[in-house]
Amino acid sequence: MGFSYNNQILHAESVALTDLVESYGSPIYVYSRTDIENNWQEFDQAFGLHPHLVCYAVKANPNLAVLNVLAKIGAGFDIVSIGELERVLEAGGEAHKCVFSGVAKTAVEIRRALEVGVRCFNIESASELNKIESIAQSIGKQAPISIRVNPDVDAKTHPYISTGLKENKFGVDIDEALGLYQKAQDSKYLSVCGIDCHIGSQITEVSPFLDALDKVLILFEQLKKQDISISHLDLGGGVGIDYAGEQTIDIQNYINAIISKVGAMGEIEIIIEPGRAVVGNAGVFITKVEYLKQNSTHAFAIVDGAMNDLLRPSFYNAYHRVLTVDKNAIGIQSKWDIVGPVCETGDFLAKGRNLSLTEGDYLAVMSAGAYGFTMSSNYNSRTRVAEVMVSGNTHQLVRERESVQDLFAKEYLIK
Ligand SMILES: *Cc1c(COP(=O)(O)O)cnc(C)c1O
Repeated sequence: MGFSYNNQILHAESVALTDLVESYGSPIYVYSRTDIENNWQEFDQAFGLHPHLVCYAVKANPNLAVLNVLAKIGAGFDIVSIGELERVLEAGGEAHKCVFSGVAKTAVEIRRALEVGVRCFNIESASELNKIESIAQSIGKQAPISIRVNPDVDAKTHPYISTGLKENKFGVDIDEALGLYQKAQDSKYLSVCGIDCHIGSQITEVSPFLDALDKVLILFEQLKKQDISISHLDLGGGVGIDYAGEQTIDIQNYINAIISKVGAMGEIEIIIEPGRAVVGNAGVFITKVEYLKQNSTHAFAIVDGAMNDLLRPSFYNAYHRVLTVDKNAIGIQSKWDIVGPVCETGDFLAKGRNLSLTEGDYLAVMSAGAYGFTMSSNYNSRTRVAEVMVSGNTHQLVRERESVQDLFAKEYLIK
């Protein structure tokens, strides 16, 4: 575990978080390199000898250092924009290990992805297939494609992060996919490589994944009958993590279950795209208690971090554990609402937490490595925070805190 107490002080690996705020200020995101590596490797090793590629979903945490750490241990990447593609390349990742997902790929993005040679485009509509075909033709290349099918299974997760139901905007209906594959098969500029699906995020049971896989395998068989050969199955990301003590998926069981279904079809390569499960519990958000304020019904700890830094609580009503960084400190015991400085009632990081607090204390908002910094904004003209990577007893700034000048560096006064 990357984050644990030592002498009552919360540490990231062997580094006290108190030392990190001294060096880098507050608020900050702190990541554990060892946790990131171990989490990715757990997926990778679970496959054993079965052909596979674990493509880290960049959107969960796109910091260059995070991508760099993963590239060094051989990760593939799931990208959803040209920005993510360029990040991966900058961080030493390989284009031929990138799968390109996303519902609205633009011509510029498609052209660039073809030029650098991504492994596969995950196609989300008939129009996108046409667009990719014509761009591939115009530059004399063949585009490798999978169709992202919508298997219409309930991932049993938050509605904002469920993607595999008919009412969601993602993918194409599985019955429609056959026609698209035939079209792709007949095109000189497209080469069919796989079938893709991604049913949602923060999924804590294996069964929705297996339900989706069953539907994918039916399509696989249908394609085989038509002599359309598929070299990989991409089962997307979505493996959930422990935020609040919930039961989560055992990775080895999950992979074993997939392999035993797919194995019956032969040695077909399996791609998975975990994001949250690689980085979520490998990062924390550290914030300082600026003010304590109690009224007749509520106790508020007003901190220097806010919804613009960590949106998940406001956006999805997500729960993050909150720990005091220094347990030696003696404070006021209460049920605190941890709220930020932003002028929105929805600006909270946590509610009703039993903590002993004093002004000046530091709090660690746990499990903040995924969909944390990456969803941050400058709302209320707040500068985006610094990010720090810890490895053993060393630490390194991996993104500078923005300055106030940075906030309007690309703006102009009226002419
Ligand atoms: C978001 C996303 C992922 C990663 O999801 P996690 O829940 O973070 O594992 C993988 N694939 C696609 C297509 C996505 O949109």
